[in-house]
Amino acid sequence: MNKLYIGLLKKILGVPKGTSNHVTLVRCGELPLDYALACNALIWYLKARNGPNTLLRSYYLNEKADDLRWALSIFFRPAEELLTRLNDLVEVDLFSFKDTSAKFWIRKAMCWELSDMWFRENMSHFTKRLYKRWSCIKLNPLMLTKISTTWYHQLPVGRGYLNSIQHKYYPSIDPHCRFGCGCDETVDHIFLRCPFVDTERLYIQKLCTSLDLPFILSSIFIAPELKLSVERLLLRFIRHN
Ligand SMILES: [Zn+2]
Repeated sequence: MNKLYIGLLKKILGVPKGTSNHVTLVRCGELPLDYALACNALIWYLKARNGPNTLLRSYYLNEKADDLRWALSIFFRPAEELLTRLNDLVEVDLFSFKDTSAKFWIRKAMCWELSDMWFRENMSHFTKRLYKRWSCIKLNPLMLTKISTTWYHQLPVGRGYLNSIQHKYYPSIDPHCRFGCGCDETVDHIFLRCPFVDTERLYIQKLCTSLDLPFILSSIFIAPELKLSVERLLLRFIRHN
């Protein structure tokens, strides 16, 4: 099931199958499947613990009142232990919720926990330059063209068709900028320095200013409001051969 989940996310982004699973999840702004399912389970736990009198609540109360049944519990006790762990990571009391309003805070706590794991992994250095922490940021679903959207998602996960990236896999490919400016065609070069896309870059810079965002790669690849302008710059490279 997890393979299917990750596979679908990779297809949505248009990234290669070999892309790291964690990088794919971070780029999609999604939780790993086990965390996403655990989040739903915790909502049911809170409904049973704090919600109205239902069959679920009476089942919870009966288990909680019986030490042996509680020790053998395969749902409520593990849920309570997980919520206790997550409760230390956020500024609200997760145990005070009784319905789906807890979801925002549970996901936030999970993101904190995942951020810690994400930064302990010694890999995906470029993606980590962009994403300082794991967060559930929704992607902008609009696209300028299919190919520019694919580039827009492939570059932040360290893939894509820039000459410098392709050169690593195929040494015969010239790593220099296709516009002939003599520099390596890297992500930093095309977004921050290449003089042949000054017009597109200036437009993105103005948008950043109006949105009170710094003009850095994190903003360029993450802020949903910039997506179409970023794709417009990418299209200049895609169409120049
Ligand atoms: Zn250039």
